[in-house]
Amino acid sequence: MSGGIPEAPPVLGGDRVYRIHWVLGTDRLRAVCHCGSERIFEDPVELWEWLLAHPDGHEPAAVPAPSPEPAPAREPAPA
Ligand SMILES: [Zn+2]
Repeated sequence: MSGGIPEAPPVLGGDRVYRIHWVLGTDRLRAVCHCGSERIFEDPVELWEWLLAHPDGHEPAAVPAPSPEPAPAREPAPA
């Protein structure tokens, strides 16, 4: 067959699948937990400790809710 690079196998899914991405061009690794949490690490040991400590520290990042009400409309000052 051709001498090209073989295709990557299909990515597994499931409740106990962790993914680690090498961030191209850096020394960093991005860990993705099966719960959806992501975190960037430079030290693979810390990365695995974080992944295996699930769910400790895996809360989704708190996204500040947008202000529920718009600022009150200003009424024109009386003449
Ligand atoms: Zn998790």
